[in-house]
Amino acid sequence: MGTLWWNGTFFTMERENEKIDAVYVEDGIIKATGKKENLSDTYQNKITEEYDLQGAFVYPGFVDSHLHMVGHGEKLIQLDLSETTSSENMRQLLKGKVKSLSNDEWVLGEGWNENNFIDRKIFHRDELDEIAPNQPMFLTRICRHAALVNSAALKLAGITKDTPNPEGGLIVRDLKGEPTGYLLDAAMDLVKSSIPSVTNDYVTIALQKAVDDMLRLGLVGGHTEDLHYYNGFKQTLTSFTSVIDGDKRKFRAHLLVHHEASNEMVKEGYMEGEVTPFIELGAMKIFADGALGGRTAWLSTPYADDPSTSGVAMHSEEQLMNLVEKARQLNMNVAIHTIGDAALDMALRAIEGFPANKGRDRLIHVQVIRPDLLRRLKKLPVILDIQPRFVASDFPWVQERLGEERLKYSFAWKTLLQEGIHCAGGSDAPIEPVDPLLGIHAAVTRTKPGERHPGYLPEQKLTPFEAVQLFTSGSATAINKESQRGKISSGFVADFTILDKNLFVLEPEEILQTNVLMTVVDNTVMYQR
Ligand SMILES: [Zn+2]
Repeated sequence: MGTLWWNGTFFTMERENEKIDAVYVEDGIIKATGKKENLSDTYQNKITEEYDLQGAFVYPGFVDSHLHMVGHGEKLIQLDLSETTSSENMRQLLKGKVKSLSNDEWVLGEGWNENNFIDRKIFHRDELDEIAPNQPMFLTRICRHAALVNSAALKLAGITKDTPNPEGGLIVRDLKGEPTGYLLDAAMDLVKSSIPSVTNDYVTIALQKAVDDMLRLGLVGGHTEDLHYYNGFKQTLTSFTSVIDGDKRKFRAHLLVHHEASNEMVKEGYMEGEVTPFIELGAMKIFADGALGGRTAWLSTPYADDPSTSGVAMHSEEQLMNLVEKARQLNMNVAIHTIGDAALDMALRAIEGFPANKGRDRLIHVQVIRPDLLRRLKKLPVILDIQPRFVASDFPWVQERLGEERLKYSFAWKTLLQEGIHCAGGSDAPIEPVDPLLGIHAAVTRTKPGERHPGYLPEQKLTPFEAVQLFTSGSATAINKESQRGKISSGFVADFTILDKNLFVLEPEEILQTNVLMTVVDNTVMYQR
């Protein structure tokens, strides 16, 4: 039994511009590539299935090398009201959301602000009941100190006319003393506690939405970090195995294990490696510092726009050393979040002190480096997980944070590749949008979509080939699977991202108008436009 995929332009990603026009697959693995006639002849007795791709462009399946899938799903579940500019618009958005939910699901919204509405309307419970008579509703105001709820939510929380105001909170009431549905500060908690925010079902639903969204955007997999934040390692892993069952949903999930979650991992009898054919446990995730936005990324000299601080180290050097040592004892690689150069320096000392027993360690973000750190990086078996979209989001304000001198070695993707350092591409969703085409666009243009300028630090722009490599062979290299994934070649998995355009010849703005036609995982069409 075999499958012939033909009449497409298949980019092998072995070499720039290398194309083939047909692929023959057996048991989910590419058996041969070449001309359709040759493959048809050779395998004529074995071909049981054929896909005529009608001239589409086929890439090795795109994989996001760093994100938080449950968090991405949560963002999809909750309705974003922050861009709403009229109360009528908010009403319409809520109606649309309600339609998409089942009868007992919560309607969760975030970010409404009546100051953006001409009528300054703060919805009354009765109006919310008209929109959602059955489903409970909880809409957080932009300041996060107030929320609107409907009658169904009040009922679930047991709030009536007779409920006293909690300490530090106010249940706003009408003249008859009935709650209007507007809750301030601590009164919000009365309802919040009945939202099944982190029930296992909620995590599972969030994950389902995330996987489906990623498949729709052409992603065949993701390296994700979620195991520490919900109901513990085992429960979260169970959500993954139930959603990605390998039948209804195929998707390659590689799960980083937060160092706090590693204890439960060991207790439950798991170790780094395969859990199911589609789910793997990966490196131990450790945070070395914070982020540039809040000036918590740890720099070796003070921030240019605030000389009073150099940022924050999450662990002392000794603690970080201990964590890396612990990973080695568990035969695990490490994946260390480092944004500032001082954090990277310390992370490198820890990796140099306790070298990996196998494979590659990962350094996540690596936004600020220095020439001496670059030299040390080159000597180690490491890969950097970079997020090209951070250039689009963090510039221009980050220039003030870092200052001229440090900027030369910041977000320096081209320099890293030229120095021969392995890099993989990701989104860090839900921080940045998960769409890999947005990541590729940012890597190639170093602008936000629609901006017309030569790019932030234009000398650091990547070619389209390099950008696609980040999300294909780069992501495979990050998990030591570069000889099985990330290329279209015999012996590699039959994971394809099929687009309607050739990314290598487009004007950069056209990347954003490219459509995903099909997402294929393990020779199975998981999404079709
Ligand atoms: Zn992250």
